[in-house]
Amino acid sequence: MGPRSRVDEGEGVGEGKGEVRKRTSVFCHRPAVYSIRCDKCKGSNIQWSEFKGMIWCYKCKVDTKGTGGIFDGPIPIQLCDIMGLRFDRISLKTKKVSRYNLETGKFGPWETLEVDRGKE
Ligand SMILES: [Zn+2]
Repeated sequence: MGPRSRVDEGEGVGEGKGEVRKRTSVFCHRPAVYSIRCDKCKGSNIQWSEFKGMIWCYKCKVDTKGTGGIFDGPIPIQLCDIMGLRFDRISLKTKKVSRYNLETGKFGPWETLEVDRGKE
Protein backbone atom coordinates (compact mmCIF):
# COMPACT_ATOMS: atom_id res chain seq x y z
CA MET A 1 0.00 0.00 0.00
CA GLY A 2 1.30 3.43 -0.94
CA PRO A 3 0.81 6.54 1.10
CA ARG A 4 -2.81 7.44 1.50
CA SER A 5 -4.24 10.61 0.09
CA ARG A 6 -5.06 13.38 2.48
CA VAL A 7 -8.61 13.39 1.21
CA ASP A 8 -9.53 9.84 1.99
CA GLU A 9 -12.68 8.17 0.84
CA GLY A 10 -13.73 8.12 4.43
CA GLU A 11 -16.00 5.29 5.36
CA GLY A 12 -14.57 2.23 6.95
CA VAL A 13 -11.01 3.50 7.05
CA GLY A 14 -8.82 1.10 8.95
CA GLU A 15 -11.21 -1.81 8.57
CA GLY A 16 -10.39 -4.74 6.38
CA LYS A 17 -7.17 -3.29 5.06
CA GLY A 18 -5.91 -5.04 1.97
CA GLU A 19 -9.27 -6.58 1.19
CA VAL A 20 -11.28 -5.65 -1.82
CA ARG A 21 -14.30 -3.88 -0.49
CA LYS A 22 -17.38 -2.60 -2.18
CA ARG A 23 -17.61 1.12 -2.49
CA THR A 24 -20.42 2.78 -0.60
CA SER A 25 -19.86 6.29 -1.86
CA VAL A 26 -18.25 8.13 -4.74
CA PHE A 27 -16.74 11.55 -5.13
CA CYS A 28 -19.05 13.99 -6.85
CA HIS A 29 -16.79 14.40 -9.89
CA ARG A 30 -15.57 11.73 -12.28
CA PRO A 31 -12.06 10.40 -11.57
CA ALA A 32 -10.56 12.18 -14.59
CA VAL A 33 -11.55 15.50 -13.02
CA TYR A 34 -9.08 14.72 -10.22
CA SER A 35 -6.39 14.00 -12.88
CA ILE A 36 -6.68 10.27 -12.24
CA ARG A 37 -5.88 8.08 -15.25
CA CYS A 38 -5.93 4.38 -15.92
CA ASP A 39 -2.58 3.04 -14.71
CA LYS A 40 -2.58 0.47 -17.51
CA CYS A 41 -3.41 2.40 -20.69
CA LYS A 42 -2.98 5.93 -19.25
CA GLY A 43 -6.38 6.73 -20.63
CA SER A 44 -8.99 8.94 -19.03
CA ASN A 45 -12.04 7.02 -20.22
CA ILE A 46 -12.66 5.86 -16.68
CA GLN A 47 -15.30 5.89 -14.01
CA TRP A 48 -15.33 5.04 -10.31
CA SER A 49 -15.28 1.31 -9.84
CA GLU A 50 -17.80 -0.48 -7.67
CA PHE A 51 -14.80 -1.44 -5.56
CA LYS A 52 -13.32 0.89 -3.03
CA GLY A 53 -10.13 2.67 -4.04
CA MET A 54 -10.46 1.48 -7.63
CA ILE A 55 -11.49 2.85 -10.98
CA TRP A 56 -13.11 1.14 -13.94
CA CYS A 57 -11.42 1.60 -17.32
CA TYR A 58 -13.79 1.42 -20.29
CA LYS A 59 -10.92 0.69 -22.65
CA CYS A 60 -9.14 -2.02 -20.64
CA LYS A 61 -12.44 -3.26 -19.20
CA VAL A 62 -10.92 -3.85 -15.81
CA ASP A 63 -11.16 -2.57 -12.28
CA THR A 64 -7.76 -1.12 -11.51
CA LYS A 65 -6.32 1.20 -8.94
CA GLY A 66 -5.55 4.00 -11.40
CA THR A 67 -2.97 6.70 -10.98
CA GLY A 68 -3.00 8.90 -7.93
CA GLY A 69 -4.04 12.06 -9.74
CA ILE A 70 -4.11 15.12 -7.57
CA PHE A 71 -4.29 12.84 -4.52
CA ASP A 72 -0.61 12.01 -5.03
CA GLY A 73 0.63 15.30 -3.70
CA PRO A 74 -0.46 18.11 -1.44
CA ILE A 75 -3.74 19.30 -2.84
CA PRO A 76 -3.74 22.98 -3.82
CA ILE A 77 -6.78 23.86 -1.77
CA GLN A 78 -7.21 27.46 -2.87
CA LEU A 79 -6.86 26.42 -6.49
CA CYS A 80 -9.46 23.70 -6.09
CA ASP A 81 -11.78 26.22 -4.55
CA ILE A 82 -11.30 28.67 -7.41
CA MET A 83 -11.77 25.95 -9.99
CA GLY A 84 -14.89 24.66 -8.29
CA LEU A 85 -13.28 21.29 -7.69
CA ARG A 86 -14.99 19.57 -4.81
CA PHE A 87 -14.43 16.40 -2.82
CA ASP A 88 -17.98 15.88 -1.67
CA ARG A 89 -19.06 12.27 -1.42
CA ILE A 90 -22.32 10.88 -2.65
CA SER A 91 -23.74 7.79 -0.99
CA LEU A 92 -24.60 5.16 -3.57
CA LYS A 93 -27.30 3.78 -1.33
CA THR A 94 -29.11 6.83 -0.06
CA LYS A 95 -27.93 9.40 -2.66
CA LYS A 96 -27.19 11.71 0.23
CA VAL A 97 -24.23 14.03 0.04
CA SER A 98 -21.46 14.56 2.56
CA ARG A 99 -19.68 17.81 1.87
CA TYR A 100 -15.94 18.04 2.27
CA ASN A 101 -14.73 21.13 4.04
CA LEU A 102 -11.50 22.25 2.38
CA GLU A 103 -10.49 24.30 5.39
CA THR A 104 -11.00 21.74 8.14
CA GLY A 105 -10.32 18.67 6.02
CA LYS A 106 -13.41 16.96 7.39
CA PHE A 107 -16.53 15.54 5.83
CA GLY A 108 -19.82 16.97 6.95
CA PRO A 109 -23.00 15.11 7.87
CA TRP A 110 -24.98 13.29 5.21
CA GLU A 111 -27.51 15.64 3.69
CA THR A 112 -30.29 15.14 1.22
CA LEU A 113 -29.33 16.83 -1.98
CA GLU A 114 -31.83 19.29 -3.31
CA VAL A 115 -32.05 18.41 -6.96
CA ASP A 116 -33.41 21.19 -9.09
CA ARG A 117 -35.13 19.43 -11.94
CA GLY A 118 -36.25 22.70 -13.47
CA LYS A 119 -39.73 23.98 -13.95
CA GLU A 120 -41.54 21.64 -16.26
ZN1 LIG B 1 -7.13 1.46 -19.32
